[in-house]
Amino acid sequence: MTVLVTGGAGYIGSHTTLLLLENGYDVVVYDNLSNASRESIRQVEKLAKRPVAFVKGDIRDKATLAATFEKYSIEAVIHFAGLKAVGESVESPLSYYENNVCGTVALCETMASYGCKSMVFSSSATVYGDPQELPITEKAPLQATNPYGRTKLMIEEILRDVWYSDKEWKVMLLRYFNPVGAHESGDIGEDPDGIPNNLMPYIAQTAIGKRAFLSIFGNDYDTRDGTGVRDYIHVMDLAHGHLKALEKLSEIEEVTAVNLGTGKGYSVLEVVAAFEKASGRRIPYKFAPRRQGDIAACYADVSFAKRFLEWEAERDIDAMCTDMWRWQSKHPDGYQHKEET
Ligand code: NAD
Ligand code: UDP
Repeated sequence: MTVLVTGGAGYIGSHTTLLLLENGYDVVVYDNLSNASRESIRQVEKLAKRPVAFVKGDIRDKATLAATFEKYSIEAVIHFAGLKAVGESVESPLSYYENNVCGTVALCETMASYGCKSMVFSSSATVYGDPQELPITEKAPLQATNPYGRTKLMIEEILRDVWYSDKEWKVMLLRYFNPVGAHESGDIGEDPDGIPNNLMPYIAQTAIGKRAFLSIFGNDYDTRDGTGVRDYIHVMDLAHGHLKALEKLSEIEEVTAVNLGTGKGYSVLEVVAAFEKASGRRIPYKFAPRRQGDIAACYADVSFAKRFLEWEAERDIDAMCTDMWRWQSKHPDGYQHKEET
């Protein structure tokens, strides 16, 4: 089976591509490299000991999409491509709607015209906004608090409408909680551009000495130690979730949303402690004011994923930190070859 992986050169896409290759799928990675390096795919090929078809293309570019569907017999799409920085989306909302929403529309139109109607979509726990109840089930009310989140909500609704108009579509919406860590080899991982926005890469860069200290955004939340609580999930567990979703896709009867998390929440201070243990380094930190738009706590109810996908996350916070640290120490500056070929 040939799977088109949009955004397959990125963080989650590259790990999922590797797992797909290891499980016998043929993969076509489609990425405009706006936030990724071709080097990630080279590393994936090395680890899988198999070549990967790569198309440098934009999901908004229907001509390149069509040429890709002409060339390969694509049966399903895992759709990771998109912009994902919350702060940037507040400053530049139109580019987020254009890229994420218009890009997904162009992708779906092209898929339909080639008779490919199977999609696994990267959604996010951000669609739950500030949750009223924890843990969060898939039935919780949906609400976006920033343009990035709104693109995810809009795309979920667009995909439901597409299915409603044509029941041949098989669509799964995977709502990720907080993906962290790296492949066990330490040869692929997250390679943020500039100063990381997310906690775990910031901690890793502090441990390696690239950042002087971590600012902890808020220590007065209503949580066990006052710092924010999140459901961190190892990127390889997440990748496995995609494999399971792909296997189940043909059986589903309606657009189905599934939480991918561990179901456990860790506070910022607990993550710092786990990373110190894994790396043997001290992580200097200072408390800073709350970050605008942040919520106190967010973690998943994972019972539906267990039942429906027959999947659950296996790696704990120590494995997440150990693998993150291995990637960070082997590749302190991320992927070295940033050329866009
Ligand atoms: P990433 O930035 O590493 O990967 C996204 C990839 O998409 C990049 O390689 C980028 O070059 C590519 N891309 C962006 N716009 C494109 C376009 N118009 N055409 C073609 N390629 C394009 O991000 P990631 O962390 O791997 O996230 C993958 C997906 O998962 C995204 O849709 C993101 O919104 C979603 N998600 C991520 C997180 C997270 O914390 N990492 C959480 C929830 C959901
Ligand atoms: N956080 C922090 N310092 C940082 C980055 C994040 O204290 O430099 C906190 C943030 O306030 C939240 C948690 O770490 O409580 C996870 O933040 P991240 O941005 O990784 O994920 P998200 O907020 O999108 O769930």
